[in-house]
Parts: sequence; structure tokens; C-alpha cells
Amino acid sequence: MSLDPCLGVESQLQPYLDRQLTPGEVSMIEQHLGTCAYCRERYHFEAKLRDTVKTVCCGDPVPEGLVERVRLHCRGQGAA
Ligand SMILES: [Zn+2]
Repeated sequence: MSLDPCLGVESQLQPYLDRQLTPGEVSMIEQHLGTCAYCRERYHFEAKLRDTVKTVCCGDPVPEGLVERVRLHCRGQGAA
């Protein structure tokens, strides 16, 4: 496999934050986050995003598509 490991980690960030991964997958991701600044940033961004959404929604179920909208919004303001 010559796939960019970052792609694999990025695609698993959501289940990782949802604590849906196996211990093996978790340790693989944490290992990568420890060595890759890019993925670490992505992780912190996603974690903060979830925090923000949770706070705004006061524990109510997050409306479908809200996280995605906030993510796009934040991305639009960040580096192009
Ligand atoms: Zn990476």
C-alpha cells in the first residue's frame, strides 16, 4: 500500500472522535497524530468543532448537516 497515511487517518477522525474505533485503530491514529503536525491540526480542529457545536446546541441532537456547514464555513476563513 502506497497510500498516504494521512488520508487514512483523516477518514477515521470522525469515528475516532466518536470512540467507535478498535483499540488497535485508536493506537494507530494516536501514533500518527504524534508524528504528523498536519493530522494533529485536523484532529484539534475537528475536536474543537464538536465542542463548539455541542455548546451551541446545548446537548440537543445536532441537526443533520450542521457540522458539515460549520466545517465548510471555518475552512472558508482559514488558509485557502
Ligand atoms: Zn498525517
